[in-house]
Amino acid sequence: MTLKLYNTLTKQKEEFVPIHGNRVNMFVCGPTVYDYSHLGHARTYIVFDVIARYLRYRGYSVFYLMNITDVDDKMIKRANETGLSVKGLADRFTDAFHEDMKRLNVMSVNLYAKATEHVDEIISQIKTLIEKGFAYDVDGDVYFEVRKFKDFGKLSKQALDELKAGARIEVDEKKRRPEDFALWKKQKPDEPFWASPWGNGRPGWHVEDTAITTTYFGNKYDLHGGGIDLLFPHHESEIAIAESATGEKPFVKYWVHSGFLTLNKEKMSKSLGNFFTIREVLEKYESEVIRFFMLNAHYRSPIDFSDKGLDEAKQGLERIKNTVDNIKAAAKNAGEGSEGNIPDIIAEARQKFLDAMDDDFNTREAISAVFELTKSVNQAIPDGLSSSALNMIISTYKELGGIIGLFQDEKKEGGITGDLISLIVEIRENARKNKDWETSDKIRNKLKVLGIVVEDAEDGPQVKIR
Ligand SMILES: [Zn+2]
Repeated sequence: MTLKLYNTLTKQKEEFVPIHGNRVNMFVCGPTVYDYSHLGHARTYIVFDVIARYLRYRGYSVFYLMNITDVDDKMIKRANETGLSVKGLADRFTDAFHEDMKRLNVMSVNLYAKATEHVDEIISQIKTLIEKGFAYDVDGDVYFEVRKFKDFGKLSKQALDELKAGARIEVDEKKRRPEDFALWKKQKPDEPFWASPWGNGRPGWHVEDTAITTTYFGNKYDLHGGGIDLLFPHHESEIAIAESATGEKPFVKYWVHSGFLTLNKEKMSKSLGNFFTIREVLEKYESEVIRFFMLNAHYRSPIDFSDKGLDEAKQGLERIKNTVDNIKAAAKNAGEGSEGNIPDIIAEARQKFLDAMDDDFNTREAISAVFELTKSVNQAIPDGLSSSALNMIISTYKELGGIIGLFQDEKKEGGITGDLISLIVEIRENARKNKDWETSDKIRNKLKVLGIVVEDAEDGPQVKIR
């Protein structure tokens, strides 16, 4: 069983061998916190959440680091538009980002590193680049001189000539050449600033990531992830900065990129109104449905987000969850019975699931193994399975589901919410015993609206939370 993953740098699937034995240092580009995160971000963060979970499941000790870009051009522009300070804006949308991630069950990041808390490290990296002749200061602005780094283009496979012609190059007359990019930006009036050897200013974007990863991981690390839209110029520039500053390569062993997300077959665009934030979608669909939808595709394939796609995801997810609920209910009453072929069914499903994950994190195939398990289990249930067989099935859903962050319901019950639900269900049960059907039906219907389904079984009410 070897884990293979597609490396954008080499354009092939490679066996995963971390630099330091069992330890994996993993970094993913985080949000620029000037607004709510959108669905494209949701996809990226769900994908890398699953990759971190799976590496941990396989026994690696994963340190998952993500940066937060809390000062840049977009932040300053939005702060001016809204009348907030850049810091105020950043705090607000950093909190919103963490809330969104929690709701999407993206909980695998070990450390979020804010750019503004790593300015010393950024300045130190820029100083090194200037000393080594890779960067130059023009009246308080510092640029990276791209032609000095011979390997430029090795990640995106774009030649320098193409880059020069590219539209995404910032026009700036102070630069020596159009392809050079800013490492440090001189302070303009009313902008936030830090003192530096080149005067007051603030960091450019690409150097923020490299300074942060060098601080925590050293000169080389295992896995850098992000959306495919960041491949150029951002990730290409990160390589140029880091390998020039440290003299060591490769800066990152495995580059992993998640695919595009379109909305009703079109690129998401705020200006065209073809745009959803994570929280807008969470108003209509449960977070598990969104996760299931995102993971029911290969992470490198483009996916198209539509109500139809989400409704299908919802149905698929419900089929699995209903089966799990039924097994849980059956397990409460089951006794000695037989195990039937359950151990074989489980072993086969687990193997198929893990083989799929080992093949470049193919969550789509892994989910299809869960569907097959569900089908086989549904066929076996009427045979009167023993409680040990049923519990084996339940723990398999928990184990495999834990890898993709689905089919776990510990968050649903427990705590004060769980206690309140139990209390309401008990009051309804008393009403039923007193034949007060009006009250019991009213409670049941109101709970249903809230996504709490009460079913009356022989041994008492069963509560399902959707
Ligand atoms: Zn980045």
